[in-house]
Amino acid sequence: MQKQIKEIMFKVNDMSGKQRDDAPDYKKEKKRVDGRKMDELRPISIKVGVLPNADGSAYLEWGQNKVYAAVFGPREALPKHTQNPYKTVVKLNYRMATFSVPERKQPRPNRRDFEISKVLSEALDRAIFTEQFPNTEISVIVEVVDSNAGSRVACLTAASCALADAGIPMRDLVCATGIGKAFNELIVDLNKEEEDASDAVDIPIAILPNSEEIVLLQMDGLLKKEELDKLMPMAMKACKQVYEVQKKALQDKFKLSEVSEANVEANVAGKEVKEVPAAKEKVESKKDNKESKAKKVKK
Ligand code: ADP
Repeated sequence: MQKQIKEIMFKVNDMSGKQRDDAPDYKKEKKRVDGRKMDELRPISIKVGVLPNADGSAYLEWGQNKVYAAVFGPREALPKHTQNPYKTVVKLNYRMATFSVPERKQPRPNRRDFEISKVLSEALDRAIFTEQFPNTEISVIVEVVDSNAGSRVACLTAASCALADAGIPMRDLVCATGIGKAFNELIVDLNKEEEDASDAVDIPIAILPNSEEIVLLQMDGLLKKEELDKLMPMAMKACKQVYEVQKKALQDKFKLSEVSEANVEANVAGKEVKEVPAAKEKVESKKDNKESKAKKVKK
C-alpha cells in the first residue's frame, strides 16, 4: 500500500512538472542513466543493401532503435495529378511495427506518424537533386521495428543511406541526431528515460554535414537561448560522428578490392593495368592460390 501511494505521488509530481524524488541529477553525477557521457551517442551500426527487392535499402541499429529503410524510384508519379513537371516528389512513409513499443502500437498511421513522414520527406528533399527527375516520385519507406526514443533521427539517417544505395544523386548525406536537456543537464541523443524526464527538452536535428545546412529542426519543450547556443556545437559534432558511420557503411558495400582500386587508379592515370605492380602481384598470387587449390582437389 505504502509503495502504491509512493508511486501515485511520483506520478502527481511528474504531472505538476516537478522532478521526481528519485530522479538523477546529471550535474552532480557527471554521467547518465545508461553510463554515457553528456555528449556521447548510443552505439550506431548501419548495413546498406539489405533488401534485394528495393532499389536501395539500409538497416540501422541506434541503441535499442532498429530501423529498416527501403527506396523505390525515381518512377512515374501516380496518380498523375501528383506529378511536378519541375522536380521529383520525395515521399517518405514512416511506420512503426505494432511490436516496436512496450504497449501495442495501432497499425494504422496516427497523427505522429503523418507528422514524422512529412518532416522527414522535406529533409530528404533538401539533399536530393530533385530537379533531375521531373514528373517522378521517389518513395522511401522506413519501418521502425524496435524503438527507444530518437526514432525519427534514426529513420532519417537510415533513409539517406538507402537513397545513396539506390544511386539517387544527392548534394550530401543527411545525418541526424537528438540533442536536448534532461535531469538538469544539456545532453546529446536522449534515450526514452531521458525523454520522459519532467524537465526534458528533445530537439531532433539533421544537417547536410559538408555545408552544415540544417534540414530538420524540431523542439519539444522549452530552452533558454544560451542553452541552445551551447547545444548547437554538440549537435554538429554528434551529426558528424553519425556521418562517419554512414560513410563507412556505404564504403563497406561499394568497396572495391585492392586490385580493382589499382586498376581504377591506373585507368585514371592513363596507364596499362599491367604497369601497376601491386595489382599485378595480387592477381598473380590469387591465380597461384587457385591453381594450388585445384591441384589439391585433384590429389
Ligand atoms: P522520436 O522517436 O523521434 O523521439 P517521439 O519523441 O514522438 O519521437 O517519441 C519518443 C518515443 O516514444 C519513441 O521513440 C517511442 O519509443 C515512444 N513512442 C512513440 N509512439 C508510441 C506509441 N504509440 N506507444 C508507445 N510508445 C511510443
